[in-house]
Amino acid sequence: MYRENTLDYDFVAPRRIIFGWGRRREVGTLGRTLGSRAFLICGSRTLMDAGVADEISERLRAEGVEPVAVEVISHEPEVDDVDRVAAQFRERKVAADDFILAVGGGAAIDLAKAVSAMATNDESPTIKDYLENVGRDLRIVNDPLPVLAMPTTAGSGTEATKNAVISSYAPPFKKSLRDERIVPRIALLDPELTVSAPPGLTATSGMDAITQLLESYVSRKAQPITRTLAIGGLKLALPSIAEAVANGSAQMPRERMAHAALLSGMCLANSGLGMAHGVAPALGVHCRVPHGAACALMLPVAMRANREVCLADFAELAQLVLGQSPDTAPDEAADALIDRIDELCDEVGTPRRLSELGVTAERIPAIVASSRGSSMSGNPREISDEELTELLEGVL
Ligand SMILES: [Zn+2]
Repeated sequence: MYRENTLDYDFVAPRRIIFGWGRRREVGTLGRTLGSRAFLICGSRTLMDAGVADEISERLRAEGVEPVAVEVISHEPEVDDVDRVAAQFRERKVAADDFILAVGGGAAIDLAKAVSAMATNDESPTIKDYLENVGRDLRIVNDPLPVLAMPTTAGSGTEATKNAVISSYAPPFKKSLRDERIVPRIALLDPELTVSAPPGLTATSGMDAITQLLESYVSRKAQPITRTLAIGGLKLALPSIAEAVANGSAQMPRERMAHAALLSGMCLANSGLGMAHGVAPALGVHCRVPHGAACALMLPVAMRANREVCLADFAELAQLVLGQSPDTAPDEAADALIDRIDELCDEVGTPRRLSELGVTAERIPAIVASSRGSSMSGNPREISDEELTELLEGVL
């Protein structure tokens, strides 16, 4: 648990963060600071959106940067995707003057971050050997290519983190490549790019950011900077997510959600997460539940499970973020926070039952067994397999 008197921490973040409505127009000059050839990795929505990818290419060319389109990805990245794209990079003989430009949701940016390391490290041809606890556990030796990340959803915060999440379905695992050198060198956030995200995606990705802010706040590895950022992010996200979903072209809610998501990434990169993020990858690999939907569903479950040990923290957040009176009893204040999250899930329409996401009772033992990753180790208290089974059965 976080203690105010232990001021002892590390903190990593992108070297530059550029944030603002319409600021994608600066991509050429920013790209030029990283190199003269940009390998483009795009999310599929980006490509279809009113020429966003073309606009980026033109702006790069105008500044003397050669754009090279290498990949369009429409699903959370898998081992085979990383290996295939990294092989292309190696064939092209990447040089010191190359960088990767990722424009898309978390999938495109995670793929770019993973490939940035695999393009310059070839002790094994497969990223599996570099992921946590699934292969040979190799380390990244050579510096990855620099990454310029332009998110088009407000959620994962991966534009600010030091890990890339990679899935495999046979065998089933969803694990991270983790290295401080894969933090994007430049995070260029233009919230206008998130306007085209449809309501369902806006809801699940926004709830992912909120989950990251809440889980990092109470994580065993929480630290002073991340706690401060989490409060700032929640103050913006809780009152804005429903409007971002209902009125997708409104500027202010989109800006607030993009900023909150960025902060959530800085939080998780430096303080870890908790139970909802422990279970989400297991739901992903066993039942193909998208990350944001899994987090949205598991957040209230995790908050109730952690309520006793997090009473003071939840009560504090209820005051700081919801404006609860300091005179409110901690029990009552903590419940107000949990109830608010429940209401938000209903308001934005994220799934509330695992069965809505295709999860059946027979899959629960496998889900429980796969939930013991690094996120679960940040949860503020131990959750036994028996308890986790009961919790999941309770939301089936
Ligand atoms: Zn997440």
